[in-house]
Formats: sequence, C-alpha cells, structure tokens
Amino acid sequence: MATTNGAPALEQQAVQKEAQHQANGDVAINNWSQPGPAAFDFRSDVVTTPTTRMLNAIASTSLLDDVFQDDPTTNNLEAFMADLTGKEAALLVLSGTMGNQVAIRTQLLAPPHSVVTDHRSHIMEWEAGGVASLCGALVKPVTPSNGAYVTLADVKKQTVISSDIHACPTKLISLENTLSGIILPLEECQRISTWAHQHDILMHLDGARLWEAVAAGAGSLKDYCACFDSISLCFSKGLGAPIGSIIVGNKAFRERARWVRKSIGGGLRQAGVVTAAARVAVEDNFLGGKLKACHARARQISELWISKGGKVTNPVETNMVWFDLDAAGISTEKFIEEGEKVGLRLLGGRLVVHYQIGDEAVSRLEKLMQAVLKGKQLNGTAEHAPEKLQFPTE
Ligand SMILES: *Cc1c(COP(=O)(O)O)cnc(C)c1O
Repeated sequence: MATTNGAPALEQQAVQKEAQHQANGDVAINNWSQPGPAAFDFRSDVVTTPTTRMLNAIASTSLLDDVFQDDPTTNNLEAFMADLTGKEAALLVLSGTMGNQVAIRTQLLAPPHSVVTDHRSHIMEWEAGGVASLCGALVKPVTPSNGAYVTLADVKKQTVISSDIHACPTKLISLENTLSGIILPLEECQRISTWAHQHDILMHLDGARLWEAVAAGAGSLKDYCACFDSISLCFSKGLGAPIGSIIVGNKAFRERARWVRKSIGGGLRQAGVVTAAARVAVEDNFLGGKLKACHARARQISELWISKGGKVTNPVETNMVWFDLDAAGISTEKFIEEGEKVGLRLLGGRLVVHYQIGDEAVSRLEKLMQAVLKGKQLNGTAEHAPEKLQFPTE
C-alpha cells in the first residue's frame, strides 16, 4: 500500500485501520484520523485531538443561525444536555470560562453581593478575575479543612447572611467538581445545597470535569445537577471535542443567560459546526464509557511511581496523577525537560490522563520515572515525529 509522511507501510496500515474504526467507513488520513501528539501529552485533557467521527458530524451538520435559535443541531444538543442532566434548559457557550462567567453573571443581580468558593477553584485562579470585573462581586475563598474538598462547615465560615449595611451578603455558592481530579462527594453537595437554599442562596457548579466524577461512580449526572441552580460542563476536555461547553438550569436562567452571553460576544451564528462535534464527544466518550479506562490508567501510573519509591501529593480519584516532585528531588523545569527527552509533554507533577494516552506513553513515562527516582539524567532527545506516534489501545 502507499505510504504517506514517509511512515513505514505497516504503521500506516495500523493508523488507517484505526481511522476507519473511528469513522465507520472509508476516510482520508489527516490530522483528525489519529491522536497525533496528544497521545504523548500529559499536560491536560484539553489537548485531546478531535476525531474523524467529529469531522464527519461537522461535515453533515445543519448550518442555521443560533442567535435566531434556528439551528436544529444546536437546539438538539441543548435539549439532549438538558435531558441528560435533568434540567429544564441548556445553553451552548464557547468555553468553560464563558460558561462559568455567563452563569454567575446570570445568577447575580446587583452589588453588594459576594460569591463563596473554594480558594483553589477555577473561577478564583484561572478566569482573569471575571467574577470581579463582570459582576462586581466580592469573592470569598474557602479553605477545605480536610485538605481535599469543601464541606458545609467550611462553606458556612465564609458565607455572609446579614442585612447589616456593613456586610456583603452571599448570593451564590460556586462549587467545583472535580477539583484537581478530586471528587466532591454527592452527599456533601446535597448538604451544602439544602442549607444554601434554606437561606435563599443560589448554587452554581463548575462541572468542567463533572463527567469524571460520574464516570468514577460518585453519583449520577442528574443527582449531582439536582443540587445546583446552574452547572457548566466542558465538551473540550476529557470528552475531546474541539470547542465548546454548556450551561444548564431552569428556563428563566437560560433566557437571562442568552442575554448575558450576547453581551460578551458569545452568540454564535452557524453554531452547528461546534455542536455537531460536541454531540459526538458526549456520545462516544462519556456515554461510550471511555473515561473509566483513563481512571484505571491513572491509577496504574500512580502505582508505578509509588512502586519505584515515588510519593504522591494527592490520591488518584479520577484522571489526574500527582507526583511529589519535591520529594523526588527534582524541579518542575527539570522534570519537564527530562520528559521531553523521552518524547512526553508535561506541565509538572500533575499528569492528566485522557483517553488518547496509551501503552506507549506509559512505557515512556516509566523510563522517565526510573531516571528521575534514581537521580539520573536521560541522554539525547527522543524521536517523536507525528508519523511515529502510535495509537493508544482502547
Ligand atoms: C478547564 C476548566 C475550565 C475552563 O475551561 P476553558 O474552556 O479553558 O475556558 C473551568 N473550570 C474548570 C474546573 C476547568 O478545569
């Protein structure tokens, strides 16, 4: 058979076979037909490469205007997501950040108001201060006393329930699940939610990776979502879509959120190109059960590291592994550099295991572990030209 990119025929054949498997038919080999560099990238699950099935869905999507709410692919995805989460309505947004910011802006009215959240949360650390600039809200950070997840007792300490004119009353509690790969247990969400609602405080969930908690068996999507007035979920992390997130809530929430979304430029025209791929991501990778296998692989990686004498800073509960680099006596920069020598991309001690990480990436990682934990340096640079990358086994 013909070869492309100079790759040996046998390897190319394997690639082609997998591409056809993903597309259920004859497809061209291109950037969509194999994971490519994502197969060796532990930096985040945002690096997942969209698949041929997503490309095919985009090619056959409807192309009507979503600001006019005319596009059936987008309307269907929103209805499907409302149904899946047990909420009245859903609204497409471009990113997880946009999802949180639109939802929080929608829930809050006018100052004075405060939002209570975990001090490590995405809205606190990674959203460019949007809650302050878009809502004018005071954010009150909570420290989890158990070191893992916030409890009702922790939340109560930072929540302000007062009509004293000196106070900044709490109008919203924003939780995150998973946070650093750690599950917020369903019972804790239920406790916080019941208490918050008794005090007329709304509940938002940053559920960018809620899929992972559900896949780990912590609770159903519907049971988790029942605790919250609004939830944002990402299609573009572990589920592997190229673009998109969704926010869910009641119909009144959705109507106001459309308004807020428009005000920050998030109203899309031919949104089907985004929603067609997102639908495939949910069906193939969440409903298709691929996340559970990632969790098993994450546990395998963590156990390997520990078996070689490494320490971890967090246990594996979902798809993240946390190497204690300080205890291993290596700096973050050096660890990243050594990783490059075996053809792996790393961000530091946190490794994110997504569904395109396969056996080959794990064996490269094992080589790295061996060197790092023996205080040795690796020689040379690894070959990792795209055509040499193999498919992960499913
Ligand atoms: C990634 C992430 C987001 C935001 O996602 P973007 O799409 O990158 O804006 C929000 N919250 C959490 C917890 C995330 O992990």
